[in-house]
This record gives sequence, C-alpha cells and structure tokens, in this order.
Amino acid sequence: MRYPRLVHLLILLMITISAHHATADTLFTNVNVFDGQSDQLLTRQNVLVMSNRIAKISARPIDAPSAAIISGEDMTLMPGLIDVHTHLAFNDRTTKIEADFTLDYMGIRTAKVAERTLMEGFTSVRDLGGPVFGTQRAIDEGLIVGPRIFASGAFLSQTSGHGDFRARNDRNPTLTGNRDSNFERLGVSIIADGTTNVLAATRQNLMQGATQIKIMAGGGGASSYDPIDTTQYTEEEMRAAVSAAADWGTYVTAHLFNPKSAKRAIRAGIQCLDHALFIDEATIRMAVKADVFVAPQFWALSPELFKHPDLKVEKHEAIRAMHALAKDFVPLLIKHKAKVPFATDLLGDPDEGAKSRHYEIAWRAELFGSNFEVLRQMTSVGGELLARSGPRNPAVGSLGVIEPGAMADILLVEGNPLEDLSVIGANPKWFDAPKPGPIDSIRLIMKDGVIYKNTL
Ligand SMILES: [Zn+2]
Repeated sequence: MRYPRLVHLLILLMITISAHHATADTLFTNVNVFDGQSDQLLTRQNVLVMSNRIAKISARPIDAPSAAIISGEDMTLMPGLIDVHTHLAFNDRTTKIEADFTLDYMGIRTAKVAERTLMEGFTSVRDLGGPVFGTQRAIDEGLIVGPRIFASGAFLSQTSGHGDFRARNDRNPTLTGNRDSNFERLGVSIIADGTTNVLAATRQNLMQGATQIKIMAGGGGASSYDPIDTTQYTEEEMRAAVSAAADWGTYVTAHLFNPKSAKRAIRAGIQCLDHALFIDEATIRMAVKADVFVAPQFWALSPELFKHPDLKVEKHEAIRAMHALAKDFVPLLIKHKAKVPFATDLLGDPDEGAKSRHYEIAWRAELFGSNFEVLRQMTSVGGELLARSGPRNPAVGSLGVIEPGAMADILLVEGNPLEDLSVIGANPKWFDAPKPGPIDSIRLIMKDGVIYKNTL
C-alpha cells in the first residue's frame, strides 16, 4: 500500500510544479528595451521573467531551460502603462448614476471597463473614486481580467463640495444621519464634515482596503454646488485625513484647481495635486520643494475641447478664460521639473473615454515637445507615485520600470514608441476619431508575470 501512496503524492507534487510553471518563467529574446527612465532604447536584449518579477536583462544569451521563449525581433519591450487618475466605476453620466444605478449593475460595468483598460496596455491604475474594491478583489482572485488597481474607495467631500451630488432637497448626512444620495450609498463619494467625520471616513476606506485616500479640496466643473474658484476643507480637516492615512503608512491625494487650495493641501502633507491647472509659479515651486506630485489632465487645456458634443455654446467663454489662466502652466511645470504622472480622469462612456485617453497621449507629446517625457510620465513617474502607498502597495517590486526585481508588467510593441507614440494608441484626433478598437501594435500584454494578450 505504501508504494501507490507515494506515487500519488509524487503526481500531486508534479501537478503543482507544472501548474506553477505554466505561468512562471518567460524569456523574451532579441528585444529593444525602453526601461521607463532612459531616452535611449537598449537594443538586442534578452529579458528573463521569473514568476511575477523581472529577473535578468542581458545582451548575452540567458540560459533558462524551463522558461517559455518569446522572440521579439524589432519589437520594443517596455513597462506596462500607468494611469494615476481613473474612475473605473464612474462610467456613465453623473445624473444617470445618481438616479438609476444599483451596486451590482455598476460592478458588472466596472468589470468591463477594467478589462478594456488592461487590454489597452494599462497594467496599473490609481482609481480616484468609486466602488472598485470588489472589482479589484475579483481581478486578484482571477475571476475577471483587469489592471492592478490602487483603490481610493469613496472620495471624501465636505457638504456642498465637489463630491456632494445630492439632490438639492436631500437631507444632509452630517446634520441628520440620513444618506439619501445614491452616490453615497454606492460608495462613490462620502460627505464628511469636521475632523471626527473625516477621520471616520478615511478609516472606513482603509478598512475596505484603500491604498490611498482621495479628498475633494476645491471646486470643479462636473459637480452641482461648488463653483470652481472655491476652496474646500479646512487645513485641520485635511490634516486629519493625512494623519489617519499616515498611520496606515499611506498618503492623501487631492482634487483641486486653484493656488489657495494647493498651498493648503501641501502644508497639510497631501502628496499629490490632482488637476491643479490654475496653480501659479510659487505653488509649483512649493510642490517641487515638498516632493509633491502634480497630476493634471491636459485635455482640459486643448482647443479641441470646443468640439465636445455635450458642450453648450454658453460655456465657450468660460473655457477660453480657463485656457488663458493656464497658458504658462506647462512651461512652468517643465521649468521646475515638477513630477507629472499620466492622469486622465475619464468619466462616462467607455468608448469616448478611450478616445480621450488616446488624444491625451498625443496632446501631451505636443505640449511637452517630447515623446520620451510622455512615456516617462506613463511609466516610471506613475510608478513612483504608486509606491507612495508604502505598506498598502499591493506590488512587492517597482512598477513602471524594466529592471531586475521590478514587477513583470510588460508590453511588447511593434515599432519604437520614442519615435512614434501611436504604437501605444496615441491619436492627435479626439472627438473626430473613429470608435476605437484594439491597439494592434501592442502585441503582448503581461501583468504580474501572466500574459493577457499575445498576438505573436
Ligand atoms: Zn477624478
């Protein structure tokens, strides 16, 4: 009886080993490498992925007998892309979500958007508001396909702030204890006033698994009761969120536009200014000195914005004023070497979202005058911001770079993105662009050592 039992054990062991190897080691041969940090490709390299990390990069042949070999002649191997401002769950009109969405319906739509995001080459995203913890969990459990999600959970907003989407006659949650707003019930936003409620809301998100905390620190365009010039949350309230996040080893990121909000946020210890389009030179200097990221969406500054199908003519003047106010913004970011990651903040229809994302890539290249700068923003700069989540960071190695020890988040693209960003989807057309399909020049997408697309 002993012998068959031993055989049984051996077979079990072999199955375990072979299952492990099925997704384990991959050797890319003869590829040109964009490493996320250098403006030159390393030509004719071999890159070995062991399990979910990059193990070795070498111009000499690498001996890895157990690895699956992928030959990538004339192709560029580069880090998976990173978008540090997504709303995967926020994929329809605000009014429709508030009036009509249930949580399970939202979850199914979110799963679809997550899959599409990965299939466009984005292997990590920082989600800045919306119920994505379930989607993240299902992705990590292998139930569905999507990027590595750095989730904020519900964004924190003061009453009448940028995250207050209540109907005008809904009861105030702080004053009455009633949460009438569907946005709050769904976990898109949470209205929290005063340090006590800000602490509770921050900790509530951390309990759900937030990797960073998002607060609304100023007015915005898409919301109901907060003019864009307004400043939101007192410094004391901001500090409350920062201290509760810091106790979990992570940080706070803030929606804001104007210098007053930005200065207050930096003083309070907030580490990333989302949007920030109207901040002045003194504020940019202050952000750089404090090592705070500036994460705008440059599509908002494009003349193409006037072609937006939903834009009413009455709004044109406001947009012209906004563009005039921000005319020195990009030159100042360049002058002061601000840390600018790729951040799209796309809401609503996923097809329109993909078109906007492709346009944002091309438009950044025009504004910054450099494909390399845009690629850096989409890889290593984004990866540096994601690492600020400290012990809450789900990745054990670096993101956005190709180097030994980094996570195996890898794209293989046809052509050289340093010369032509269209190979990763860039399109100088925005609303005029056709409905986007798969990006055929991205031939292979690997996340965490697992291949999700391979057309080689
Ligand atoms: Zn946003």
